[in-house]
Amino acid sequence: MADRGTQDRRTLPQMLVVALLVVGYAAFGAYMHLALQIHIVYTHAAYVPIVLASMWWGRRGLVVTGVVACLPVCLHFFRVADAPLWSDIARIAFFCVVAVAVGELSEKVKAAKWALQASEENYRLIVEKSLAGIFVYRNEHILFANSRLGQMLGRPPEDLVATSVWDLIAEEDLPNVRHLVKRRETTGVSDLRYECRLVRADGTRTWVDVASSAADYEGQPAVLVNAYDITGRKEAEAKRRELADLTRKQEEELIHSARLAELGEMSAAVAHELNQPLSGIRNFANNALYMLQEGVGGTEELKENLRWITEQVQRAAKTINQMRDMTRKSESHFVPLGINEIIRESIEFLTPQLRLTGVEVSLDLASGLQRVMGDRIQLEQVFLNLLTNARQAMEEKDRRCLTVRTYVNASEDRPLVVEVEDTGTGFSADRSEKLFEAFFSTKERGHGTGLGLTISQRIIKDHRGTIGAESELGMGARFTIRLPAAEAADSGEATKRHV
Ligand code: ADP
Repeated sequence: MADRGTQDRRTLPQMLVVALLVVGYAAFGAYMHLALQIHIVYTHAAYVPIVLASMWWGRRGLVVTGVVACLPVCLHFFRVADAPLWSDIARIAFFCVVAVAVGELSEKVKAAKWALQASEENYRLIVEKSLAGIFVYRNEHILFANSRLGQMLGRPPEDLVATSVWDLIAEEDLPNVRHLVKRRETTGVSDLRYECRLVRADGTRTWVDVASSAADYEGQPAVLVNAYDITGRKEAEAKRRELADLTRKQEEELIHSARLAELGEMSAAVAHELNQPLSGIRNFANNALYMLQEGVGGTEELKENLRWITEQVQRAAKTINQMRDMTRKSESHFVPLGINEIIRESIEFLTPQLRLTGVEVSLDLASGLQRVMGDRIQLEQVFLNLLTNARQAMEEKDRRCLTVRTYVNASEDRPLVVEVEDTGTGFSADRSEKLFEAFFSTKERGHGTGLGLTISQRIIKDHRGTIGAESELGMGARFTIRLPAAEAADSGEATKRHV
């Protein structure tokens, strides 16, 4: 320690002083005895080196007491002193008592001084080497700032003293921090934890995680603040968010283009579907016109024709609306849904295609099923994809049976089960995982994107469910979806998510 070094440097002059005093004392004593025959005064002079030695060297100062005590012993031994023996012994005893008392006191003072010095050094080490920027403020003004805070803000820490704490905080975070501090004052809670931006000397921002608490500083109440630099973490988070947004956008595009691809494939069947009501409308309209022009038929027959026309218009409008729903890019909206209802709607939407291909559809839907927490359009997209795949897989087959089954398996975490089974070409067992990989398709170029099952799997995962496939080559295929019930998946409230 620095002070111990200074102490060592002082020892030699101190020893010289004490040695001179001891010699002076001996000379003075001898002179008083021999020349002046005075035997008392010299004793008092002995206390000077004894006290000084004990003050400077603590218990080690007793050595000097020993040397000083030699003089009365010598005088007595050579019979120069005529004082009785007991008085010399008493004198020496007093020397020792004074030396021990002063020595002990001096040791204690030195120990306290070194302890204080050590604690100051520890404090400096902790505060200055801390990874946190530390400052103390009272009445909104900084009383102390460590050098880490100076580094974080690009300013010498001394410059920060007397600065207002509000000048350190970035404008955009000021209202929030002021609000938190005010709340602490009103609620009386001592500790506060928040994140905010501090302003650097060059005007740029440093993100910090702040922990502040009430503390006593120099005997008066103040606030102690530890600020950890989290700029790196914040930048990484922003980057991650940016990437997540980008990925989400790309996924949305993917879902959208897959939907468009399905739509393209469907357009022939939809044209057929629209053609039917349009021909109906034309026929009934011609019929009604003929009745009016030729004056044949009654009002009731005319009305009947018009009713038919309205019905056909509604049918065409429904097809067009479904087409629009399919192509719309949407934010997902999670609400409790009946899975059977979605399956029925999906089948209904594909009925024209299924009919054209000659597929026999059988529905085995359990009644009283619990609802699922889901997005209608997304779940519809999954079923449309499974049903379209099944239909396509059966095109080459003579027997074309499509079965959609729903049931409950109460022992599972995801108790709602949907099975889509067909009698199509199927696939070998080792393919059952591969089907879900992006761009895996066995369909002819232009017929398959290889994205349908990938997107379906992602949608089911978003619904906290699972999807799997089983088949034997040539023996048809079965796709199984397991979903949690709405109560387990969510508290039942509608939630919004982006996909
Ligand atoms: P795509 O239909 O565009 O090819 P999918 O991801 O929907 O893309 O399907 C991937 C592949 O999985 C299909 O090319 C087909 O080989 C296989 N597949 C899907 N469903 C069935 C099914 N029901 N029967 C047989 N193979 C199927």
